[in-house]
Amino acid sequence: MNLKNIEMKNNPSAIVVFSGGQDSTTCLLWALKRFEEIIVLTFNYDQRHQVEIECAKKLINILNSKQKHRIQWLGENYIKEHKIIPISFLSTLLQTAMIQETDIIYDDETDLPTTFVPGRNILFLTIAAAYAYQHKIRHLITGVCQTDYSGYPDCRDATIKSLQATLHLGMDYDIIIHTPLMWKSKAETIKMMEKLGGIELYKYTHTCYKGQRPACGECFACQLRLKGFKEAGREDPLEYTTREIL
Ligand SMILES: [Zn+2]
Repeated sequence: MNLKNIEMKNNPSAIVVFSGGQDSTTCLLWALKRFEEIIVLTFNYDQRHQVEIECAKKLINILNSKQKHRIQWLGENYIKEHKIIPISFLSTLLQTAMIQETDIIYDDETDLPTTFVPGRNILFLTIAAAYAYQHKIRHLITGVCQTDYSGYPDCRDATIKSLQATLHLGMDYDIIIHTPLMWKSKAETIKMMEKLGGIELYKYTHTCYKGQRPACGECFACQLRLKGFKEAGREDPLEYTTREIL
């Protein structure tokens, strides 16, 4: 069976891998526009910014309550379930600045920032695909992006396409991994969210690598986010300690 033949209209359910960040929140809205029933998976790997998980819960709560958001089109489609999946073994296995309190720097040896968690997206999507298989769901959505990526190799289009093929073979099951942000800049993602009517939701998303709320405004992730908003010519509703672009 050709994967392109799995039409969305015949498959009303989808799984969104959701961190509570800006990109995955945009993807969640993208998915809600297209699929009737969404299952949201958030992974708890003892990430340094645990506040991200609280943000994820709050965002789901807002999206599931018509009184709490102002997105006119969001009526019929809904989030059926939000599962927080504990994978704390990652923090005992791996040393990375995304988990441990170590400096976030650029590693000349690997050519990657020390926030890189090797295999993270592959692991998340494999777990999500196993869950999809059991629930007869054909669509996975992830916010990975090759355009603005920090050099993370598991965010690349080739990695995702290859993983989709591996999952298809390994489970003998047709599944599509949608990557609506793959070729978008941060500014384009913001404009996409604006079209979806969800810019105000960005107030509750989490980006800061230091795990601070209000966001520090200075770390790599905060700066990338601030630059994206500047380029898009929009105001970020998130609270910052400083909004200065360095
Ligand atoms: Zn920050």
